[in-house]
Amino acid sequence: MRILIVGAGIAGLAAAKALELNGLRADVVERSAAPPTSGQGIFLLGNASRALADLGVLKQVERHAFAIRAQRILSSSGEVLNAVATEPFWESCGPCLALPRRTLLDVLLASLRETEVSYGKSVMSVEVRGNVRTVQFEDGRISEYDLVIGADGIRSLLREGSFIATSPRSLGLCCWRMVVGNLDKLDSWTAMLGKKRTALAIPLSASDLYVYADCSASEFGDGSVAVLKKLFADFGDPLGPIIASLTDQVVIHRAKLEEVPADRFIADRLVLVGDAAHASSPSMAQGAAVAVEDAIALAGSLATVSPIDGALDAYYRRRKARVEWVQHQCHARDRLRGAPDIVRNFLLRHVGTALYKRSYAPLVDGY
Ligand SMILES: Cc1cc2nc3c(=O)[nH]c(=O)nc-3n(C[C@H](O)[C@H](O)[C@H](O)COP(=O)(O)OP(=O)(O)OC[C@H]3O[C@@H](n4cnc5c(N)ncnc54)[C@H](O)[C@@H]3O)c2cc1C
Repeated sequence: MRILIVGAGIAGLAAAKALELNGLRADVVERSAAPPTSGQGIFLLGNASRALADLGVLKQVERHAFAIRAQRILSSSGEVLNAVATEPFWESCGPCLALPRRTLLDVLLASLRETEVSYGKSVMSVEVRGNVRTVQFEDGRISEYDLVIGADGIRSLLREGSFIATSPRSLGLCCWRMVVGNLDKLDSWTAMLGKKRTALAIPLSASDLYVYADCSASEFGDGSVAVLKKLFADFGDPLGPIIASLTDQVVIHRAKLEEVPADRFIADRLVLVGDAAHASSPSMAQGAAVAVEDAIALAGSLATVSPIDGALDAYYRRRKARVEWVQHQCHARDRLRGAPDIVRNFLLRHVGTALYKRSYAPLVDGY
């Protein structure tokens, strides 16, 4: 079976690895000239670790990751509203980990044995022609494949070409992301909630701290460090002083938060995985987990079900409800974050752990 994977992000590389493990091989093309050499952190909950273990790469990931044993939510003044011990909850899956995003990509890339990843190569169009997909690349070359896997992210060209209702939907939030020194030796996932503002810090190591902050899109302005500092000026310890000490020299990534509703993500000899299929708000930290799970489910279906249409249908049926659950829970979390302080803080104090368990329990079950 001639398979093309478009995109060498987490979803694309995981798909390549999962196919290899099932005795299949794909060509992978990535429009960036090379794997990333810088970037932000990523937080992986236990189901992501389980999926990475199923790909055979968890040990390598753990070698570069910081184990997150607690998730704490604080008010903007620093009062602890909720704290969840992650290990007992995710015990049957695997550890909760934080690491630089590029390291996760490096580990996935290094694990490939038979797959060639072509960097600096963009797909321009994909068309159905009889029993094949005809793919045109930026350099003008045209190739035929039995199946094209779109792992091309939230602005997926493949989704736009083949599915209805394709544009990402704004979530009305904008964010800043950066890595700074872990000067206070934070050792847990720590979020602080203010009025329609969230700050989050996750240790990537004893020395590096990944910091995320978001606000409503209407307040983001030019997204400068000055705006960030102003919006979080009333935040107390531990994250307020970290944001207050930022300078223009810190490398900051800015983004609008958007989602792709998990609708239909299979078509004739075309299938989407990861953000291309169902990008979500980062509130559940499930993007990598569901991308790797997608990859494993798809490769398993392709190896065991034929013809290809049947395999894609089996994949879709296996994934649809799970990714929809993640999106619904992201919405619920975003609504809670945006609720009036008094309501939100009361709920987190009294039922925060129950809400955590309710939203993640179905993901502890297998995929
Ligand atoms: C602010 C923020 C914080 C997040 N934090 C977390 C977190 O802590 N934990 C977590 O699990 N998830 C998190 N996520 C979600 C997670 O980052 C994504 O779900 C995940 O990266 C999706 O991977 P992907 O491979 O599907 O897409 P991408 O990472 O977008 O990869 C797509 C790739 O396809 C390539 N490409 C695109 N078009 C073409 C083309 N035409 N031809 C060739 N190549 C192409 C792109 O260059 C890119 O490399 C966060 C998301 C955001 C926005």
